[in-house]
Amino acid sequence: MQYNHFIVECPRITKTNCGVCLEAIHKTDIRIKIWHYEKSEFYHLECYKPKLQQYISSRHITSYLKGEYAEKFQSWLNEWNLKFPPLDKPSHFPPKLIKHVESQQSRRKRSWLEIFKFLRPREVLNSIAFVNKEFYHLTWDQELWRHYCIIFFDVQASIVDWRAYYCTLSLQACFGCKAIIQDSEFHRCPLLNKPLCKKCRRQDSKFKVYHKNAIFSKYGINPNVLNLEYVPGFNNRKVTYHFMIEKALYSFREKNKEVILAYFRKLKGFDDLLKIVEEIDLANMDAKDNWHLPNYDQKIQHSLYPRVFNYIRSKEGGLRSLKGKSAA
Ligand SMILES: [Zn+2]
Ligand SMILES: [Zn+2]
Repeated sequence: MQYNHFIVECPRITKTNCGVCLEAIHKTDIRIKIWHYEKSEFYHLECYKPKLQQYISSRHITSYLKGEYAEKFQSWLNEWNLKFPPLDKPSHFPPKLIKHVESQQSRRKRSWLEIFKFLRPREVLNSIAFVNKEFYHLTWDQELWRHYCIIFFDVQASIVDWRAYYCTLSLQACFGCKAIIQDSEFHRCPLLNKPLCKKCRRQDSKFKVYHKNAIFSKYGINPNVLNLEYVPGFNNRKVTYHFMIEKALYSFREKNKEVILAYFRKLKGFDDLLKIVEEIDLANMDAKDNWHLPNYDQKIQHSLYPRVFNYIRSKEGGLRSLKGKSAA
């Protein structure tokens, strides 16, 4: 992943010119320096526009500013960062999330809590809490937050305030391994907009990054059909995670399967083929040693099976080729 990295300082000698306005940068100016091996770039703070539309984390800046210069830069940084979801560790919780409210008894408490457990915590906090006083009190119930901690973060500990603990986990636990990330290692992934620890980033194959060409050469499928989200990676090529590709592939194939099923249901007389299509395992359609190739079930002999399989797997061939065949 790529970030806006730079050095911010007051130049000791006036020798550099700004890359935007081309004017000299003076000793009393705040200068942004972007270090490159061959030729660094310099900008006036006022002229500088970060390349990536992304939150700038303090860990990606080296600042040599002091006093009022540091303050001026900080307010520039705050203004820029306001537009983006933060990549730094939050320094405090919004007070409304951690104040403590004793939940009042409600006659229908048992039933409501069981129903709320089906909702997302965000819905409970943002919608249910505003329905009425009874619901508001129920959204503070420890049992509800204990349930969320267990199902979303697999928590086994005994905790005093489950709601506050849920807030801690949702802001500080790694998206991959669910462990709370230490302050010094804190990193929020700009693609997931969630904290992600170093170990998961480096070692978990789920978080291996792929750019579009790599997706095409691995799967032989045009990545544009997968509706993936990307962020700038090495050399400014847009990248996404392995697990997101797999997930997108699965739903792409789910849709293709629905199209095939609907098509042959309408034609009638294809019950045997329909049964075969129903049983195709969407998570297992690529040959493991060569992802480009379809992973056919060798036992299936139906003449339309390979075409139908290819259509679901990669939308190859198109429905028209099936129409000709099925009419024959
Ligand atoms: Zn300038
Ligand atoms: Zn992790």
